[in-house]
Amino acid sequence: MKKLFLTVFLFLLLFIAYVLFKTFTFSSSQLQVAAIEQSEIPEGAVDRFVEALKIRTVSFENKADFDSTQFQLFNQFLKERYPLTDSLLEHKIFNQFSHLYKWQGKDDALDPVILMSHIDVVPIASPRKWTVHPFTEGVKGDTIYGRGTIDDKFGVVGILESAEQLLGEGYQPNRTIYFAFGHDEEVLGHLGAETIVNYLKSEGVQAAFVLDEGQAIVERMIPGLNQQVALIGVAEKGYASVELRVDMAGGHSSMPVKETAIDVLADAVRKVKQNPMPAELTYALDGLMDKLGPEMDFKTKLFFANRKLFKPFILKAYENGSPAANASVRTTASPTIFEAGIKQNVIPTSARAVVNFRILPGETLDDIKEYISKVIDDDRISIRSIGVSSPASPISPITSSGYKILDQTIKEVFPNLLTAPNLVIGATDARYYTALSENVYRFVPYYINPENLACFHGIDERVSVNEFENGIRFYRQLILNGTQLK
Ligand SMILES: [Zn+2]
Repeated sequence: MKKLFLTVFLFLLLFIAYVLFKTFTFSSSQLQVAAIEQSEIPEGAVDRFVEALKIRTVSFENKADFDSTQFQLFNQFLKERYPLTDSLLEHKIFNQFSHLYKWQGKDDALDPVILMSHIDVVPIASPRKWTVHPFTEGVKGDTIYGRGTIDDKFGVVGILESAEQLLGEGYQPNRTIYFAFGHDEEVLGHLGAETIVNYLKSEGVQAAFVLDEGQAIVERMIPGLNQQVALIGVAEKGYASVELRVDMAGGHSSMPVKETAIDVLADAVRKVKQNPMPAELTYALDGLMDKLGPEMDFKTKLFFANRKLFKPFILKAYENGSPAANASVRTTASPTIFEAGIKQNVIPTSARAVVNFRILPGETLDDIKEYISKVIDDDRISIRSIGVSSPASPISPITSSGYKILDQTIKEVFPNLLTAPNLVIGATDARYYTALSENVYRFVPYYINPENLACFHGIDERVSVNEFENGIRFYRQLILNGTQLK
């Protein structure tokens, strides 16, 4: 008995020693780069940004609401406010309102870089709730308000301000660089991003790397970490909707049968919701733990350093964390439509529900259908996919020169930031561009924190003047670093 106790004790001691060893040797892999001198901000940049924000380039679900005059105004804005870009770069317009600029590099043998953004914005639900009107006012104090400040005219104007500035200085890139601005990102991007990608494909373009929106600098959003982090999206989740349908005998509500179409469907939806697809650590999250683990508080560092041992606990923590944390470890299911019945006293003969899935990289629509049919386990329910779906994107490596350039540029312009890869849980135009490059990244240098999180697609969308100016500095440095690269 004593011997057994001793063996267990020794084993435990070894285990603790191993875990601590892994923790203490889990050291920072953050890129060390010297900060650069802050570049000048072009005169009138904030005014031009506000001018862009005032143009109501809204994408509506209902195509009939599309206001082409606003998009026409935006075309004019680009032409008038960025005359060097407009005249010196090759400029193509797709479906009237999406723009592609090509800045020819000196060396044709080098693969080009593509910087993306989008011109359209989402509609305003309640303009009265805004601190300042989302389309008419602009700056208040040191904050710029307006629909599109973060999503995503920040990118359009930031890129063009820096390009115009560099053109004014006579800068010539070694490597060709494209600026691609779609005008229908908020409604799937078929006219903009998809069309531009098809054109570039037909031209045989293979890009060194592509940068779109999707992630940002986050502060106080990651438990166990006090520093600000620039998250670089290396993949995005897929999107699919599945219809569940049941057809059964109806009848009069005065003589209810044991189970009706409504009961069967409700039960099926409950099962889908209560039995989520299994949680998994993706390459993106693994990379995030590698990059941020050593910077975190001791407890989190210990878990991340020994993630093979503690994987179930880490996954549990994500599952029980915020909805976004849960969404980053699994394919999620959201019932979004539930329909049955036409009259108060009639038991309906059919019922249908739609469940929207966001698919984790590595899983497919077929996996989902198979999984939910097993979970529902009721052959009265028919399962079929409906509407538009897109698979999860491939995962871009963090070892590419594109990623390294981004990492370096972020640290040169924002000296105190950590950087880490991450999974984008929404969908962006970038998914089309994975056809043109293995290295597609998603990052815009504005700040997201618990205070402004809700302004994204919501009320009081805003950035500070300082953030916008640093955005211009970031794109300038990225163009320089990306196109000097041999
Ligand atoms: Zn966007």
